[in-house]
Order: sequence, then structure tokens, then C-alpha cells
Amino acid sequence: MSLTSPVVSPVPHAEPGRDCPLCPRLVALRQVCRAEHPDWWNGPVSGYGDPAARIVLIGLAPGMRGANRTGRPFTGDYAGDLLFATLDKFGLSRGQYAARIDDGVELVDCAILTSVKCLPPQNKPIPDEIRTCRQFLQAGVEGLPRARIFIALGRIAHQSALKVLGGRPGQARFGHLAEHAMPGGRILLDSYHCSRYNTNTGRLTTAMFEAVFARACTLRDELEPA
Ligand code: SF4
Repeated sequence: MSLTSPVVSPVPHAEPGRDCPLCPRLVALRQVCRAEHPDWWNGPVSGYGDPAARIVLIGLAPGMRGANRTGRPFTGDYAGDLLFATLDKFGLSRGQYAARIDDGVELVDCAILTSVKCLPPQNKPIPDEIRTCRQFLQAGVEGLPRARIFIALGRIAHQSALKVLGGRPGQARFGHLAEHAMPGGRILLDSYHCSRYNTNTGRLTTAMFEAVFARACTLRDELEPA
């Protein structure tokens, strides 16, 4: 496996090294994964997408057999199937998604960042890990000068995004399709995470997820016509 990220980040200077040592629990899991699956990426997953993006998705953390395996956010597991289909439907991607990093899919006016860049046990990062990795999310957001609409996928992403964007936690409660005005004219838009659990339980339907992207595109076009 290559020592450099398999995808080109829209903000390369915002990415940690492949052996980022800052979260001991996640480093330990990374070592186990590298031993068991030497052909997987098993490292911090870099951002992905268009450096001129106006819409930015903020996810939670890599999935074991998704981004942690392939090295590209949301690529290779169920959450990616729904997300990339939705991006395609709203003109935010180009190319045919095939759950592989060499499928040639490019994001258009859109980028994906994550709250935590390394695989957490049971998909649950602890508060220290979320706080520690926020420096990279902050640098990623600051490195996307046109970004105006931020879609937080899930409550943890909402909280991380709120801190990075300078919002006040008490004034912006998480809720599906909730919109929050942030300093600098930016808008935070919440969505339930597109995980298999949420779709299997009916918490999130395809229509509900598409409604978030429809709203994001409308807000983008109102704020700053292309
Ligand atoms: S989660 Fe972020 S801060 Fe923690 S080890 Fe991974 S890259 Fe480093």
C-alpha cells in the first residue's frame, strides 16, 4: 500500500501524515488493521473533491470496509452507494461511481471532509478524538475559500462543524433539514447520516436525503450564483 493518500485532497496542506500519532486508541486499531489487511489503506482519510467547492459535506469518520479500506471518503460501503447516487442526481459529481477509487468519479462544486479521519472502534469516536482531529477539519474548511453551504451528516458532524464555523452550540440544535446561519454568511444544514443503520430503520429515506441536497443547491444558488 502506498504511503501517500490514494486520493488528491482539495486542501493538501490540511492533511495529517499517514501515521498521525495523535489519538492512541485509533492508532492501535490502525496497527491491527494494517496487520490483518495489509492491502487496505488503513490511515487517515483525506478530504476529497473540488477545491472551488461551494457545498461541503462533513461526515463522521471512515467506515471499516469503506473509506478505511479504499482511502476515499464514503467509497466502498453502503453509505457511499446512497451518497454518490445523490451527488450524481444533483449534478455534484461527474462519472459513474463504482465503489472503487479508480472509478474516475469527480466531485463538482462539492467537497467531502470528515470530523475524524481515522477508523474508530464500532464507528464511535470518543470526545477527545473528535476534539483532537478538529484541527484538520478546521484547516480543510479554511482551505476551501468558496465554501458557503455545509451539510453535516449526523449529530457529531453537526457539533464539529458548528465549532469550526464559529457557531454557538446553544443556538443551533441538530435536526434533519435544520438550517443554521453561521458567521461570514455561511450556512450549516443538518442531515441524518446516510448509514445503513439509519436507512434500514427508516430514520432516513432516500427522499429525505435528497431533500437535504435539493435545499443545499437552492441555498447555494441564492447566495452566490455560479
Ligand atoms: S483521528 Fe485525526 S488526529 Fe486522530 S490520529 Fe487520526 S488523523 Fe490524527
